[in-house]
Order: sequence, then structure tokens, then C-alpha cells
Amino acid sequence: CSVLGIETSCDETGVAIYQGGRGIVAERLHTQAAMHARYGGVVPELASRDHIRRLLPLVREILDHAGLMQPDAVAYTAGPGLIGALHVGASVGRSLAFGWGVPTVGVHHLEGHLLAPMLEPEPPDFPFIALLVSGGHTLLVDVADVGRYALLGESLDDAAGEAFDKTAKLLGLPYPGGAALAALAQQGDGQRFRFPRPMTDRPGLDFSFSGLKTFAMNTLREAGEADIGADVARAFEDAVVDTLLIKCRRALAQTGRRRLVVAGGVSANRRLREGLAAMVDDQGGSVFFPRPEYCTDNGAMIAYAGWRRLVAGQSDDLEIRAMPRWPLASLVG
Ligand code: ATP
Ligand code: MG
Ligand code: FE
Repeated sequence: CSVLGIETSCDETGVAIYQGGRGIVAERLHTQAAMHARYGGVVPELASRDHIRRLLPLVREILDHAGLMQPDAVAYTAGPGLIGALHVGASVGRSLAFGWGVPTVGVHHLEGHLLAPMLEPEPPDFPFIALLVSGGHTLLVDVADVGRYALLGESLDDAAGEAFDKTAKLLGLPYPGGAALAALAQQGDGQRFRFPRPMTDRPGLDFSFSGLKTFAMNTLREAGEADIGADVARAFEDAVVDTLLIKCRRALAQTGRRRLVVAGGVSANRRLREGLAAMVDDQGGSVFFPRPEYCTDNGAMIAYAGWRRLVAGQSDDLEIRAMPRWPLASLVG
């Protein structure tokens, strides 16, 4: 069974074909980052229009590459995300499936992120704790199985990726600055500044990252002209990594789970990966990450999540589904 996956929830047009028993057999990704960079963030209308331009040619390319006339099913991101951007993938995906006479399934974008580590050679078994750290979300989830998600904690304000991007902007780095901030932090002195570890001094698994950006702003202001960008980047990254690590350790202890899955754009962060790997190892558990290309948005994770849903017997009617807000915990298995 081959499933075409379509991702257009934000600013990447991602397509891929997942084949049961074989894995991902074709994929393409077009990122609009450069187009939005001059505005300092994603411009929704520009995003939708660019998805319209890119999507069908990319679908044609991967079908050719896979040597298929048509897939056996179509999976598209149905939410959450930008409404206009979602509508492009949803309308194109549903219509192609209608024309081909194959089933469709609307996939939850965060379920896509969360299951992405299953595309790796040594996938995790259920159950596990998932830390989802992306541009729009920071969630700790207890995952019993596909579709059985219990929310343990979330950010009360900025998402981890959003905090990276806003702090990167303060440092004069182009949008989206998460990876660039991490690169700058490598040259920083980790002893120079110490940023707070928000909400770690009280029980619970919620997060708050907006204060770190303010802390970075004040630190930069107090330094005046002095060139401390790399040191601030390093102190910020250390604080985010440490905070995520403390909450993950707490989530594992609280639930008694032994496996930790980390996904979403920020899970590409090298220091986070190293820190979490060491912590989980220390606890006698195991940690799972997607490969770096599957941490940020892509079509492969949508094709895979769609395939899991389809083999479980689920598919949609003729409706075109696009839901800008859609709680992960509302899904069913
Ligand atoms: P969501 O999935 O919540 O809807 P999104 O799809 O925009 O949001 P992703 O594509 O999963 O988010 O991730 C993008 C985020 O990951 C950006 O905030 C980006 O700065 C961040 N990011 C990417 N690489 C790194 C890195 N190496 N270190 C820190 N942050 C990173
Ligand atoms: Mg993006
Ligand atoms: Fe995403």
C-alpha cells in the first residue's frame, strides 16, 4: 500500500510517498523560509499562494520518481496550522484522491511530528513519553499507542521554537533563527551569563519560555555596545535545554515510562539531543529522535502517520478538512 503524504500547514511544501514494508520511496520539500525572511516571520497569504504554485509539480515529481501512476491513498495535513495554507494541501489532496478513486485521511500535524521517529531504523515501541518541541508547540504527551495521547504539560506562553526565533531576532539573526542561534551559541562562553530555568522550582510539567526572551533583551541592553551575542545565545540555549531536560526527567519519573521520543523542529538541536540522551541513559531508559530532516516540517511524517491510520481501517468521507486549531488529545486511536 503506497500513501502520498502532503504537508502545507505553514511555510514548507512537503510531499512524500510511504510504502508499507519499504518505507519512504520518494520525497520532496520546498521551504519558503527565504521568501518570508524579509518580513521577519511567516506571511500567511504569501504562504498559501506559494503552496499553490509548488504543490502539484512536486507531487508529479515524486510519483515519477517512485514509478507510480497513482498512489493507493492520500494523506494530507488537516491541522493545526495556517488556515489558508492548510486549505491548499487539503483541497489538492482530497481532489487528487477523488480523481484517482482512492481513500483519503486528514492527518494531525503534531501526530506527524510525534510519529516521525518511527521512520528510523530502530523505531520506539509503545508506550512512550513524547516531548514535542516545534515552532508553535511545546508539549509533553503520554503516548499509549497511535491516537492515544494524554497531555501531561504544555507551554503557557511561547513555544520553545518560538522562543528560539524571537531571541535569534534580538541577536540580529534572520528568521527562522533557531538553528542560527544554536550555531552562534557554539562560540559562546557558557560561564558568562546564567539565565533562569522557568517553572522548574515548582511541581508540574508545564513550561513558560517568554521570560527567557525578555531576559536576553535585558542582558543585551545592559551590555550596551559590547559584543556578547554568542554568550547570550549560549546562556539562552543552555537554559532551554536544561528546562526541557528537567521536565522530561520528571515526566518519566511520574509515569514510570522508560522510553522518551523527542520530535518537532527544536529536536534538531544538537545540545538538546546530547543532553536528553545523557539524562535518559542515566535513568536506564532509551531516547528516540527523528533524523534532522524529519524534525522540521516534511511530507514523510504525514505520509507515515496517514499510512498508520489507513492500515488501522480509518479514512475520511468526501469532506475537505482544514482545522487551524485542533487539540492533539482529542484524537482517537
Ligand atoms: P508546529 O509544528 O508547532 O505547527 P512549525 O511546523 O512551524 O510549528 P517545526 O517546523 O516543527 O515548527 O519547527 C520549526 C522550529 O524549529 C523553528 O522555531 C526553528 O527555529 C526551530 N529549530 C530548527 N532547528 C533548530 C535548532 N537546531 N535549534 C533550535 N531550534 C531549531
Ligand atoms: Mg517552517
Ligand atoms: Fe511542524
